[in-house]
Amino acid sequence: MGLTSGLRRAVVVARDRTSTICADRRRSWGETAERVARMAGAFRALGIEDGDRIAVLTLNSDVYLEAYVAAPWAGAVIVPLNIRWSRQENADAVEDCGASLLIVDDAFAEMGRSIAAASGAQLALIYAGSGAAPEDMPAMEDLIRNHEPVADADRGGDDLFGIFYTGGTTGRSKGVMLSHDNIIANSLHALAEGLFPNDTVYLHAAPMFHLADGAATFSLLLKGETHVVVPSFTPEGVMKVIQDHRVTSVLLVPTMIQMLVDHPAIGNYDLSSLKRIIYGAAPITEAVLDRASAKLPGVEFMQAYGMTELSPIATLLHPQDHIGDARAKGRHRSAGRPVIGCEVRIVDADGRPVPEGTVGEVAVRGANVMQGYWNRPEETEKAIVDGWMHTGDGARMDADGYVYIVDRMKDMIISGGENVYSVEVENIVARHPAVAQCAVIGIPDAHWGELVHAVVVPHADARPTAQEIIDFCKQYIAGYKCPRSVEIRDEPLPMSGAGKIMKRDLRQPYWNKTD
Ligand code: ATP
Ligand code: MG
Repeated sequence: MGLTSGLRRAVVVARDRTSTICADRRRSWGETAERVARMAGAFRALGIEDGDRIAVLTLNSDVYLEAYVAAPWAGAVIVPLNIRWSRQENADAVEDCGASLLIVDDAFAEMGRSIAAASGAQLALIYAGSGAAPEDMPAMEDLIRNHEPVADADRGGDDLFGIFYTGGTTGRSKGVMLSHDNIIANSLHALAEGLFPNDTVYLHAAPMFHLADGAATFSLLLKGETHVVVPSFTPEGVMKVIQDHRVTSVLLVPTMIQMLVDHPAIGNYDLSSLKRIIYGAAPITEAVLDRASAKLPGVEFMQAYGMTELSPIATLLHPQDHIGDARAKGRHRSAGRPVIGCEVRIVDADGRPVPEGTVGEVAVRGANVMQGYWNRPEETEKAIVDGWMHTGDGARMDADGYVYIVDRMKDMIISGGENVYSVEVENIVARHPAVAQCAVIGIPDAHWGELVHAVVVPHADARPTAQEIIDFCKQYIAGYKCPRSVEIRDEPLPMSGAGKIMKRDLRQPYWNKTD
């Protein structure tokens, strides 16, 4: 099966059901499929051939979802680009994947133009914004109107579906090759776990280029459910569309949840339709999760852990594991259990499983594991050993199969020979009532190797001192885990395109080399 046959199925089971709601546009699955077949016709007319890459650099929109299917419908491969990246980073990605077409909107027309001008290859641009198209690029809406629908190229199975660039959180971003089977497998795993129940009205508030949100795009497309789309995340924008369109489900990264629940206007909106918040992509502190549960009493929380290379989900923490007995057992601190269809084990540096409860690296096997890194065979070989994807994440697993992510292997701090997991320390720092956001990193020290250092962004009216934060931590965790130094900052922490704190940027001033 492929994504396009998934769309054809959606049309059979849900022709008249609402597919997308975006700005003042509301479409049905029948209309979406018609637009996709015409968009594919336009791609073909613009010279796209089998296997060519089509890159997308736009904010969220209904057209994003359509392009995800129109690319394979035309026989092509989709490459979603990172909206938070600089011109140079996106130019590098376009160059790396050899895209021949780049779709841009108002926010990225200028960047697209400059990437096209600098690119050695012929890179055509399409304008998919909502205003009038600039003179130098055709408008997507005109292309859709002026081209007849073409037959589905019917990509599926092992055919390459897309190249997805990793967040670049730990180093240089890599292009992850995902097949149609990878994407379908992940969708089936998610659906089997009940991540997206019937009659879901899902809000795309997290960036659609990122696979965390992509999991919803594809799963809900296969089922013919409804997608509500906002261009980008703003707390009030999100609250308004949840109210206006009776949204039932949304995926938010932890920083977005924090911004939403700490927003003074949260009481002004009717959010009663909202049943579920899916969170993941980065660790969430218990303090933020507790504030969220208190402010949104009718909402259940579900956590997903995964990575681009896993299409992306590996484990899920279900709503019932956040409350009651499960909570008393501390399960809400885990990332849940492996999803149906996916095996997870914790291994040592030689790839051998470690005893239960011991920290090691998460390794994952399943039909959702990527085909490899685009143009990087050596890195693929290092990452996938005997079918197991080595994630670079440190975790332990308990007797019931719950996986506790402790840290990225690269973020672990070794101080005086002891391992300190930054996530554990962040959880404590975040409990301090004055703390809105925090990150814990290791900084070099001649005597201890590394020292634990916290960077704290306080709530608007709070002014904690470094010593107060340190003293607070000492009440809860061993001395060697407590921050030795604390920096209080007023501006938000640097974030990656996927809403992750860029610890390597925080570390950089302290280390000579970037890691
Ligand atoms: P790069 O690989 O380029 O450094 P990245 O790893 O941030 O970037 P993604 O594939 O977007 O790129 O992110 C996957 C990573 O996000 C995981 O390896 C893990 O470290 C983190 N992550 C995802 N979900 C969770 C979660 N629920 N809890 C904690 N960490 C998570
Ligand atoms: Mg990664």
